[in-house]
Amino acid sequence: MARILIAGAGVGGLAAAHRLRRQLPAKDEIVVVDQSPVHIFWPSLLWLMTGTREERQVQRPLSALKERNITVVNAPITALDPAKKSIVAGDTRWTGDALVIALGAALQPKVVPGLADEAGNFYTVAGARAVWELLHTIDQGRIVVLISCIPFKCPAAPYEAAMLIDGVLRKHRRRERVSLELFAAEPAPMGVAGHQVSQSIITALADRVIAYHPNHVVSRVDPGGHRLEFSDGAAVHYDLLAYVPPHQVPSVVAEGGLAPAGGWVEVNRETMETSFPNVFAIGDVTGITLGLGKPLPKAGVFAHRQGEV
Ligand SMILES: Cc1cc2nc3c(=O)[nH]c(=O)nc-3n(C[C@H](O)[C@H](O)[C@H](O)COP(=O)(O)OP(=O)(O)OC[C@H]3O[C@@H](n4cnc5c(N)ncnc54)[C@H](O)[C@@H]3O)c2cc1C
Repeated sequence: MARILIAGAGVGGLAAAHRLRRQLPAKDEIVVVDQSPVHIFWPSLLWLMTGTREERQVQRPLSALKERNITVVNAPITALDPAKKSIVAGDTRWTGDALVIALGAALQPKVVPGLADEAGNFYTVAGARAVWELLHTIDQGRIVVLISCIPFKCPAAPYEAAMLIDGVLRKHRRRERVSLELFAAEPAPMGVAGHQVSQSIITALADRVIAYHPNHVVSRVDPGGHRLEFSDGAAVHYDLLAYVPPHQVPSVVAEGGLAPAGGWVEVNRETMETSFPNVFAIGDVTGITLGLGKPLPKAGVFAHRQGEV
């Protein structure tokens, strides 16, 4: 009997678990470990943020996996030992014949002074809800959508967010009194998809009168004064801030020696193997350079397929 450990029950971890369950004999054990009791479908946070979904509609309990002969452990992983293919979750050490690291990217708003004190981190359930709380009542002023860092997951999401916010304001006939701006740490939208795609998004923003400010790296936030400061000295006032926080590799992954300081897990892009035998990494936790020299975006569509690999 073999045991496969899967660290993380997000998009990649669940795809790997389901594929392995189909391919392995029933006696082989598949153990999925996650700190959350529910799987959240992250793309739907944009709908939570714009009031077209409720929290219960964007999540499913992980306990349902038990019906498919997949063991679920609900506990935070506090240590990883890739050489031994083991993890510590809660107060239990689990050792497997193979280990799949699918822990995603850790959101770190504290990296930017003041940012964590702002509620509108729409990459979390609570933050998306907080944006909606203000958005459905704001009657005048300035809404800023902020991309605080690169890389960030789903290169399209903040642009989609700005356009959805525009749609809400128009629907409720408040758009003329509320200005909408997007400040981005990156030079252009979805650069990995090429110049033509970037330009079409810039045009779509302009069509909706969403002012776009690329190459703006936020250096400080004053939540009390509702003010953003950028590394080039520019500053802007906001009445509502919806932001993408800095992303980093989860600390437990770095401490386990699987990623260099400030980097991501390196893998064989054909097999998803790490440098440790029978230890694989998939999804947002990895750093993969494409043939064109740019990093593969962090996105669910890639995490899912990598899970199947
Ligand atoms: C607002 C938004 C919109 C998006 N839209 C799209 C889209 O339209 N298309 C698309 O392809 N992608 C989209 N994405 C990106 C997509 O959701 C991610 O790329 C994808 O979820 C990555 O999958 P993953 O398995 O690598 O990580 P995740 O899905 O983030 O899963 C990681 C799991 O690990 C768990 N975990 C982390 N640390 C620990 C720990 N120490 N102990 C235990 N468990 C831990 C977490 O609880 C989580 O369940 C969007 C993301 C956001 C936030």
